[in-house]
Amino acid sequence: MTATSVPATSKHALRDLVLRYLRPHAGRAALLGVLLFGGIALQLTIPQILRRFIDSAGEGAPLEALYQLAFIFLGVALAYEGLMAAVTVLGQDVRWRATNALRADLTRHCLRLDMSFHNSMTPGKMIERVDGDVTALSNLMSDYSLRVVGNVVLLFGVLVLLAREDWRVGAAFAFFVVLTLLVQRRVVRFAVPEWKKAREADAELFGYLEERLAGTEDIRAAGAGGWIMQRFQDLMRTTMQIRRKAFLLGTSMWISSIAFFTLGNIVALGIGAWLFREGSITVGTVYLIFHYTEVLRRPLEQLTDQLEDFQRAAGGLERVSELLERRPRLEAPSGRPAVIPEGALSVALDGVTFGYTADEPVLRDVSMELAPGRVLGLLGRTGSGKSTIARLLFRLYDPQEGVIRLGGVDARDAEIRALRRRVGLVTQDVQLFNASLRDNLTFFDRDVPDERVLQVIDDLGLTEWLETLPEGLDSELSSGGDGLSAGEAQLLAFTRVFLRDPGIVVMDEASSRLDPATEQLIERAVDRLLRGRTGIVIAHRLGTVERADEILILEHGEVREYGARAALLADPSSRFSELLRTGIEEVLA
Ligand code: ATP
Ligand code: MG
Repeated sequence: MTATSVPATSKHALRDLVLRYLRPHAGRAALLGVLLFGGIALQLTIPQILRRFIDSAGEGAPLEALYQLAFIFLGVALAYEGLMAAVTVLGQDVRWRATNALRADLTRHCLRLDMSFHNSMTPGKMIERVDGDVTALSNLMSDYSLRVVGNVVLLFGVLVLLAREDWRVGAAFAFFVVLTLLVQRRVVRFAVPEWKKAREADAELFGYLEERLAGTEDIRAAGAGGWIMQRFQDLMRTTMQIRRKAFLLGTSMWISSIAFFTLGNIVALGIGAWLFREGSITVGTVYLIFHYTEVLRRPLEQLTDQLEDFQRAAGGLERVSELLERRPRLEAPSGRPAVIPEGALSVALDGVTFGYTADEPVLRDVSMELAPGRVLGLLGRTGSGKSTIARLLFRLYDPQEGVIRLGGVDARDAEIRALRRRVGLVTQDVQLFNASLRDNLTFFDRDVPDERVLQVIDDLGLTEWLETLPEGLDSELSSGGDGLSAGEAQLLAFTRVFLRDPGIVVMDEASSRLDPATEQLIERAVDRLLRGRTGIVIAHRLGTVERADEILILEHGEVREYGARAALLADPSSRFSELLRTGIEEVLA
């Protein structure tokens, strides 16, 4: 039963992982063992009762004795079914408890991993990791060993009981069992890779669908529907071919197993008939032998499946442990983390160079200093690195060179969560969740009272807007943000940030144009948001730029111009003045 294709180290890792998650449920697992072995004992007893019944009937035993045997049989059979039902319920219970703990650990771990990891993972891959691989492991996470041992015990039990009747019967069936296991293992080796391919084809198909459905609007706009369908048909065709092959192999497995057991039945009846005519066994025993071959069927089939489960789980384990071993690239501070002061924070970038990949710098030697409470307007063409600066300030990444200081503290010396509490980030594309407005604002934190949420909404001047929503805070939003304009989504993001009361607000303005009414709402809200805080606003609109005390213009990741807004405005040769002349919205939108 050992799977030779699984290396020994990974077997240990598998055992350790399984034990770690099963340990909390040891009591249930023990109970499961007792029930399972009780069931096996009953299963082995049933044919013995039936033989007694048949032989007693043949010998013309009194009716009472037959009734008695029939009742015993009924009782044992019922008890057996009951036990098996309990084993199933308890087995599933243990399995889900253990695997859900693993799923939760994996999800928590992924959330902690940094952005470079998430950038490299598609949603499909993540789901496959957090759910698919764990499901593969889940077969092992429960009664697996118990069932394997149970099946082996059952097999041996049947063989011993058969040998007790006549050693030749025992020997014949021992041979049959070994042969079946060997052949089935061979067939599984053939079929498993096909099933793997089929699952991969499915993943690709779903991945394709997911991506296309998410892009429906653009696809329609581009009139690309025909091409999309063409690709889809191709994918469907490949999927079908692969699946058909897998099914054919699966069916041949099934047929070969049926053929084997028919062979087993023939052997049983043949030997039975022969021994009966020889006079060494009774009719009851012939039936007993026949019935035991039926009992053999389940453990033989299951042992083959379990072998497959083991191999699949080993594959899942490899990927799961690889994921668990990934450490966030952002290092935690060595020693005591520095504490970022309260209130408005100063911001300083000192010779910051950064690239998403090591050899492609997106920011080059960027330096600037912003006193607490001041507002910096960050300008630059698309792709110049503005959002990247925002991400660095939020410490989604660390710069490759240079230092970022918040309130005089090197960002790398502070605890990440503490830092993120002090920095409010409004991103360009606000992410909404499929939940109520309240949950979208508080991030599902039920400890935030409604009064506080309403207060913040009022502070930001959004009460009127809230009143246009049919159910107020209970209005359901959809994750796609349908029904909310880009401006409204930004207003939501402001409220989120305001609720956390950060010392610095980094605002990445949506570049889409807003209607005048929303624009006015946003202006008011931004005013309130920035009051008493340091602000860095990535501006796409003139109104936002006018609010800035200082201006930084980025070009290809480098500082093109940096200074007080008033000074730049006064200098007609400055890039800023030039931008204003050409119309900032034309250049930066
Ligand atoms: P926009 O005005 O369009 O929002 P931006 O100034 O905010 O532009 P950034 O998003 O900072 O530009 O991007 C700067 C550069 O970094 C671009 O060349 C972009 O392609 C690249 N970039 C952005 N995000 C990533 C990422 N996650 N992985 C790799 N490269 C990225
Ligand atoms: Mg951007």
